[in-house]
Amino acid sequence: MVNPVIVAIDGPSGTGKSSTSKAVAAKLGLSYLDTGAQYRAITWWMLTNGVDVNDPVAVADSAGKPAIVSGSDPAAPAITVDGLDASGPIRSQEVTAAVSAVSAVPAVRARMVELQRAAADEAPEGIVVEGRDIGTTVFPAATVKIFLTASAEARAARRSSELKGAQSVAATQAALVRRDAADSGRTTSPLAKADDAVEVDTTELSLEQVVECVVTLVEEKRATIS
Ligand code: C5P
Repeated sequence: MVNPVIVAIDGPSGTGKSSTSKAVAAKLGLSYLDTGAQYRAITWWMLTNGVDVNDPVAVADSAGKPAIVSGSDPAAPAITVDGLDASGPIRSQEVTAAVSAVSAVPAVRARMVELQRAAADEAPEGIVVEGRDIGTTVFPAATVKIFLTASAEARAARRSSELKGAQSVAATQAALVRRDAADSGRTTSPLAKADDAVEVDTTELSLEQVVECVVTLVEEKRATIS
């Protein structure tokens, strides 16, 4: 019997966390959780329900209200808020601009961490969890911890191609740098590399190379614990 594994994949925006995490989960037959989508989902709910996202007290008061449910299939990531499919609206620029303020509120983080640990409990084979504080706070005893980095230019170029030219590369880079500074500078579980995480700079690597590197690390670790 194989022990369930927890693979924590953290790093700033545009480093390839989502593509890597989904591919690793699919290759290893593990569940998948996108914690950024959860923070985006609660932000979307706040925006559509008239909560002032720049008022931490109002955000904290509402943190327990929306029902957020994440799917676990890496081939078809899904997220609903109060039963509504939120996968499209959570990627809007309005949500992207507001999410760092909402995710800095401790009551929001406490609620999301509860959901994240429950998702791991429901994954008998194990789970790949991507985010900003997974290796440091959510799963400090994760089987394998990865911290992905890349140059600001490479990250902006990747994010721009995802946005299909909706914004200039320079504007995308400025927004990414701003969001990373907010995520790294907050008091409660900031974006940070865990001391025991393996740092992988993806600037010059293909997605296949990054996936191969992570899969090898997980398999090596699994061989030592099973
Ligand atoms: O990964 P993604 O860019 O979708 O994350 C959106 C935002 O959610 C981040 O900028 C950050 O503010 C927040 N987040 C977080 N902790 C996580 C994952 C995401 O604070 N574990």
